[in-house]
Amino acid sequence: MTQPFAIGGNILRVDLTKRAVTMEPTAALNAGFPAGMGVNNWLLLQETPLGKEPLDPDNPLIFTAGALVGTMAATACRMTISCKNVMTGGFGAASAGGNFAPELKYAGFDHIVVTGRATEPVYLDIVDGEVSIVDAEGLWGKTTWETEQALRARLDRPTLELLSIGPAGENMAAAACIIVSRTRSASRCGVGAAMGSKNLKAIAVSGSGTLQVAEPQAFMSESLAMQRYLMGVDTTKNLRNFGTGTSFEAWNSLGSIPVRNYQATQMAPDEADNIATAVKEKKYIDKGFGCFACPIMCSQYQRVKTGPHAGTRGEKIESQDYWDFAAKLGISDPAAVLALSGLCTQLGLDNTNATNPIAWALECFQRGLLTIEDTGGLELNWGDVAVVSELLSKIARREGIGDLLADGSLAGAKKLGRGSEAFAMHMKGQDLAEEMRVFKGWALAIAVAERGGTHTQGGPLTERMPLEPELSLERFGVPTAFDPTSYEHKAELVIYYQRFHNLLEIMGICFYATYWCGMQMMGPDETARLYSLATGEDKSGDELMAEGEKILYLQKAFKMRHTDFDRAADYPPERFMSEPATGPHAGERLERPDWDRLLDEYYGQRGWDLETGKPTAENFRAVGLPELA
Ligand code: SF4
Repeated sequence: MTQPFAIGGNILRVDLTKRAVTMEPTAALNAGFPAGMGVNNWLLLQETPLGKEPLDPDNPLIFTAGALVGTMAATACRMTISCKNVMTGGFGAASAGGNFAPELKYAGFDHIVVTGRATEPVYLDIVDGEVSIVDAEGLWGKTTWETEQALRARLDRPTLELLSIGPAGENMAAAACIIVSRTRSASRCGVGAAMGSKNLKAIAVSGSGTLQVAEPQAFMSESLAMQRYLMGVDTTKNLRNFGTGTSFEAWNSLGSIPVRNYQATQMAPDEADNIATAVKEKKYIDKGFGCFACPIMCSQYQRVKTGPHAGTRGEKIESQDYWDFAAKLGISDPAAVLALSGLCTQLGLDNTNATNPIAWALECFQRGLLTIEDTGGLELNWGDVAVVSELLSKIARREGIGDLLADGSLAGAKKLGRGSEAFAMHMKGQDLAEEMRVFKGWALAIAVAERGGTHTQGGPLTERMPLEPELSLERFGVPTAFDPTSYEHKAELVIYYQRFHNLLEIMGICFYATYWCGMQMMGPDETARLYSLATGEDKSGDELMAEGEKILYLQKAFKMRHTDFDRAADYPPERFMSEPATGPHAGERLERPDWDRLLDEYYGQRGWDLETGKPTAENFRAVGLPELA
């Protein structure tokens, strides 16, 4: 894959130990690897030294804007951030929308590779090709919103875009994220801690350049047609009207949400109705807006006007927020969820990696494994908003019980002991966001995800869509894509979505605009058409799916090089096998013999070793990575 068009043009390298800045053309690496996420993964693999802890200054932290980012391709706004995973020690990546990534390309850069550690806190200031490492005096200790406000006042440029960490990243809590464009969270894998370990508080960027596409007229016409088409689709209308929170009710009615640390899978009707009603009535919404080049606009400015959380303002609330705060922690007041989610954003905490350890602690307290002496006097009861708020602040600052929770539920359980590991809900050390008992393809994707515990690396939402078997066959080559509890053909379905999700990460396109959310949205062929017109490389959907597969092998190679994860690491927490679901799928759980067979099918489809779950040398050659064979 080469990409002479639609690129910023350069890789920016910043060594914070030496306070040195260098640049090199992106084109040389684009010749061998898919742009964006592909080059990021290759750089991460090549430049992460062996045997170092994830927060070692020598490890790189790499930012990229996807291949189509900055063009008019619908939703091409996303940034991917890669590092050695702070929670698992393996492959790590997080992604976010907003406006930062397009601005980075307009400034002339496709990637930023940060290594080393500054002696004092600093931020990067990028204005076109000029890059400064600036002392972050007065910013360290501030929340992400305070940081953004201070930098906007200090830099005072009309096109300024920012990303930053909060106190959680500064204190290197593994639950730390990076906040992009004020409220977009690049979450999971501890990317915020990796940034904090470099004493890097923020990055500011302003670009005045333009991107060239290969066939301007055809690309503009195709892009505008796709934008117009997407605006009229029902999935878009639903997302624009209600945000992604609208899917919370559906997930709960299917009985597949993580209630009280996964002790149940469906919230009580009165609790869930509070949330569903607030979403449907748009109770806290002021008005909608979107990320760069997005016709969907699933984001909303939100405001709580009355009650104990009056004055709370937010800019985006996701169905994930309701899983994390409402389901997992037993908080049924939607205004409280909004307030707690906003607190996480300001502290620079990844909602999932912060709430899962809290849910673990609440269950440990419920079972007498944690006592009031351990918690510094806090009673840990389900649904206590004030206590959750205090715990979030303590996690971000590693204070008291917060230090036990800051690195995830597994790390906390290892320190606490007392049998508490049984209640740490994680995959490979990274906390879970998702319930896994009912939807079998969903469960498989989460279990085998290279970065650990995530549905955004192959999780098929088709299992909760009313798809006809014929359409399932036509789109995915399997007749069961819509069947939640069937194990049949789920390995093929997950492989399809792994490739597709990686393809979208290459492009920098938002998953919500695609087949992931609805069958009327963009698939591989539509994406390939836009890519071909933008770059001048004639690629089919299948060819781009093959590039998605190559990305997975780069991630796999990183994991094989830095961890000893094997087949055993692809088994879900025991709770999902021994404690059945509640709700409409009551009794459903993951059966071990079925899971054994599912893993065999998943590895077997690709010709991987069935005992270890690892690819062979021949597999690496077959996907075009002979140098890794
Ligand atoms: S659909 Fe939502 S998250 Fe995706 S690009 Fe649009 S506004 Fe951003």
